[in-house]
Amino acid sequence: GAALAVPDKQVDSVCPYCGVGCQLTYHVKDNRILFVQGRDGPANRERLCVKGRYGFDYAHHPHRLTRPLIRREGVPKTGSFTLDPDRVMDVFREASWDEALAFAGGKLRDLRDRHGRKSLAGFGSAKGSNEEAYLFQKLVRTGFGSNNVDHCTRLCHASSVVALLEGIGSGAVSNPVMDVTKAEVVIVIGANPTVNHPVAATWIKNAARAGTKLIVCDPRRSELARIAHRFLQFKPDTDVALLNAMMNVIVTEDLVDQAFIESRTIGYDELRRNVAAYTPQAMAPICGIDAETIREVARLYATSKASMILWGMGVSQHVHGTDNARCLIALSLMTGQIGRPGTGLHPLRGQNNVQGASDAGLIPMMYPDYQHVSSPAARQRFESAWQLPPGTLDDQPGLTVVEVMHAIESGGIRGMYVMGENPAMSDPDANHARDALAALEHLVVQDIFLTETAYLADVVLPASAFPEKTGSFTNTDRLVQLGRQAIEPPGEAKQDLWIIQELARRLGLDWNYTHVSQVFDEMRRTMPSIAGITWDRLEREHAVTYPCTEEGAPGQPVVFTTDFPREGGRARFVPADIIPADERPDADYPMVLITGRQLEHWHTGSMTRRATVLDAIEPDPVALIHPLDLAAMGLQPGGIVTLESRRGRVSLYARADDGSPRGAVFVPFCYYEAAINRLTNAALDPFAKIPEFKYCAIRVTPGGEA
Ligand code: SF4
Repeated sequence: GAALAVPDKQVDSVCPYCGVGCQLTYHVKDNRILFVQGRDGPANRERLCVKGRYGFDYAHHPHRLTRPLIRREGVPKTGSFTLDPDRVMDVFREASWDEALAFAGGKLRDLRDRHGRKSLAGFGSAKGSNEEAYLFQKLVRTGFGSNNVDHCTRLCHASSVVALLEGIGSGAVSNPVMDVTKAEVVIVIGANPTVNHPVAATWIKNAARAGTKLIVCDPRRSELARIAHRFLQFKPDTDVALLNAMMNVIVTEDLVDQAFIESRTIGYDELRRNVAAYTPQAMAPICGIDAETIREVARLYATSKASMILWGMGVSQHVHGTDNARCLIALSLMTGQIGRPGTGLHPLRGQNNVQGASDAGLIPMMYPDYQHVSSPAARQRFESAWQLPPGTLDDQPGLTVVEVMHAIESGGIRGMYVMGENPAMSDPDANHARDALAALEHLVVQDIFLTETAYLADVVLPASAFPEKTGSFTNTDRLVQLGRQAIEPPGEAKQDLWIIQELARRLGLDWNYTHVSQVFDEMRRTMPSIAGITWDRLEREHAVTYPCTEEGAPGQPVVFTTDFPREGGRARFVPADIIPADERPDADYPMVLITGRQLEHWHTGSMTRRATVLDAIEPDPVALIHPLDLAAMGLQPGGIVTLESRRGRVSLYARADDGSPRGAVFVPFCYYEAAINRLTNAALDPFAKIPEFKYCAIRVTPGGEA
């Protein structure tokens, strides 16, 4: 038999998938990764999930882009296409880097000069490093000249961040996941950590086994619910009813922390008045949880020595996502369950670097470190740091992800630069998003594969995969960690920092970063929260938690211990009332569609569906449907169903899932063959502009072509 390959080097890095930020080691031979092992990182203590352990060979997949591509003359762009990776050369021709960059940058420059700086937009990526995110937003702000820069944070926790900034002055978590082991009560709401943050879920399970009372609240029964002290399977879309009823109990039974409210918050009276009408009896029929259970859970949370709340997309991806998060914040403030170990608020961040990309300014309303673009002082700081004449930077917030798609339609946006994102798969109402991308005069896509978005590009720039470059990444715990280069990019593919810089040059910017640490140093100078973290220290210690404002400071895993980063140091209560989902079921579309992720696949699937082991475990698009609903339709598990909304239709395999509520269908959004975002609703939360991925009306019919 074949001899087992022996690695010729080991490289310490981090996992490229989720926000848990597990540290790992790549074992490499002849520029190929042989296997991966968990390291003793603060978030994982040698543990890895199936994605981290087996999801690495996408980097060696034959579909990797290895030369720049330019769209062939006369090949039309259309939003309705079927991507055939084996016929890429019918659409594109290969080009040299010089030609591709000159065309990519030249046309962007031309559009800017002819139609003004707001005619361009850029989407960066939460998969890239902090340094890539920082340079990307700097390119858009100084090269394009506007704040039209965003990324997929808009699609995941934008609403949580808006509510957190408004309520407690900081969008990041108050305590690390690992604090669940110090909590007496843990509420997990609208999150499925066993699937989406698997190693974090193991810490939650350990805590529950050691006596922490775990309360799981979710319309879908997850694996975590099996070990929960209480599982509240509330009706989809009724978060505010349930949470306001809990607050009603806490007020009525006088379980509030009066001293905390008086010394550290404002606005409590308004909140108290608002929740008065939300009695458990009145809310029970709305949310489907009996009044006594609501009371019991409210008492447990309020009276324990340390209670912590973790939440995910089930809370945030609604038109009332910001209101949902406001309620969670209010719960923690009225009971003083924040600012100590084992307490606090933890929005589980999805992508490996969605925290860091947002921190680095990859958002349309903030410069790095959440300095608002409309603040004259912040603008001056960045104009001076970036050596720009005063008054150069735009003082208007830019357009968000979904707003950009609308602006293309109305002729406002004519050219785009997309780095490592796949809006043709990830945006709501994807048929519409694809039509919009197809209508661009000029689209530059930088990626490692020919994604559905790249298929609509004028120029495709072949980039580097995670193990092919070095950079810092910030996990859900605010832990800044180093990802280190283990292998070389294939063919003529280049590192993303090089590509951004070369494109910047074509836009007339004169940058000269020769090492990733130089970008990080510039970030430290403009971002007080990481000012104390040096590149040397990251290399030495692998991970440092921010805020870390002084060199040598230990970093602060638990924040808000004495005050909140708001005016007067006080947090603010913001009351919320029930706002229904934008599109409710009716006679034509009687069921509810909920979208989300699967354990084995990551987001739009461009990496994991090209990872051999992961794709072998989950190879086909599936719809998870309650067995009784399946039976009512005369369907067997494994049969084909067609799902249809007012915006589109897909056919895929039915899977029996008694964790799904009756009347609702759950579909992962990673399958290009059945891109479920063709069906989702682009209605936005008014505060955060996050779309309602967790709720739209569909009809389900047996049969179709999968
Ligand atoms: Fe990677 Fe997240 Fe799994 Fe850890 S839990 S190995 S970071 S996907």
